Amino acid sequence: MNRIVYLDNNATTKVAPEVRDVMMPFFGELYGNPSSMHAFGGQVSKYLERAREEVARFINCHPEEIVFTSCATESDNAAIRGYADFHGPRTKVITTKVEHPAVLQPCRRLKAQGFDVVELGVNGVGQIDLDELRKELEGTQKALVSIMWANNETGTVFPMDEIAAICKEYGATLHTDAVQIAGKANVDVSKTPVDMLSMSGHKFHAPKGVGFLYVRKGTLIKPFMLGGHQESARRAGTENIAYIMGLAKACELARLGLESETAEIARLRDRLEKGILSSCPDVRINGDRESRLSNTLNVSFEYIEGEAIAYTLSDLGICVSTGSACASGSLDPSHVIRAMGVPFIALHGSVRFSLSRYNTQSDIDYVLEKLPAAIKRLRDLSPFGPDSDPTTFA
Ligand code: PLP
Repeated sequence: MNRIVYLDNNATTKVAPEVRDVMMPFFGELYGNPSSMHAFGGQVSKYLERAREEVARFINCHPEEIVFTSCATESDNAAIRGYADFHGPRTKVITTKVEHPAVLQPCRRLKAQGFDVVELGVNGVGQIDLDELRKELEGTQKALVSIMWANNETGTVFPMDEIAAICKEYGATLHTDAVQIAGKANVDVSKTPVDMLSMSGHKFHAPKGVGFLYVRKGTLIKPFMLGGHQESARRAGTENIAYIMGLAKACELARLGLESETAEIARLRDRLEKGILSSCPDVRINGDRESRLSNTLNVSFEYIEGEAIAYTLSDLGICVSTGSACASGSLDPSHVIRAMGVPFIALHGSVRFSLSRYNTQSDIDYVLEKLPAAIKRLRDLSPFGPDSDPTTFA
């Protein structure tokens, strides 16, 4: 394969060279265990605490409020299950239908265990109704709200300031899966008073296998991982120091580059969006164009399947994704796009383009050169089209 145009950065990102460099000594001479009594391990624990300070600076919290984890899936589980475990089944849990499975599945497990769990629906652009959130919180004694800061498929950004204010008003604890906002917009927990927040390194140029959970001082959860005193007894297991150093560097790079990088990424994303709208008929943009991540573009190409588009683009070296889950041989449409009420002809044809600081204008021009012909070819083969009988659409 010759050229690779990587537009799947909401799935994972390239490790930044600066991140790789800071990790290397911890695979070599700095191999001590940060929990050891001796000075050799002790020097590593100093790096660990410096990394914690850098991560804390990224979201403007106190370093001791950062718990390092292996990924955001672990952070989400630790927040939701840890909270439920501490506060018991009288806790009401409120989430949304468009969360990542790392939030949805722990919530559904709690429901099966007898907790009162509510999944809020979304409107056509993927936003929740804040009055519905208020209604669900009315009269609750103990509530955990878990709402993502930005959606991974559509890029829709939720009004976290308002959500946090509502949770405060009703005395509810707020957890947010902030995986997709990391490095794409400013996150400041002193201004947006969430109680717990999950992030994952590999979504912003650190390696896979490291993340963190922010736990505001005074928020009570039971540890999810048992068996050691690490992370102030909040997450057992020897800290993955090399990866934590990489995560801290990625936080620093994201913090310093935030404004200039997001502006350029948004310019490229908008160029792609404009190019697709002008060259491909029968498309619709999924998500909230008024409140959307700078790097994300989710497009439904009507009458064709997203998977066919993704495979065709893959043959051309262009990496994109769809929200469908291949389950037992059938392609289920994305639960996010479905929750938004997207009509059948567009439901199966959604494709997500997600950019990073490493994309160039030439990447976008290459996609705009190849995509329209690919779409036309697939539509010529499709049994569906604007003249199809709508009653044949399942
Ligand atoms: N939450 C969101 C919104 C995500 O997009 C992802 C990954 O796609 C995750 C959680 C899971 O992250 P990780 O791969 O670090 O477990």
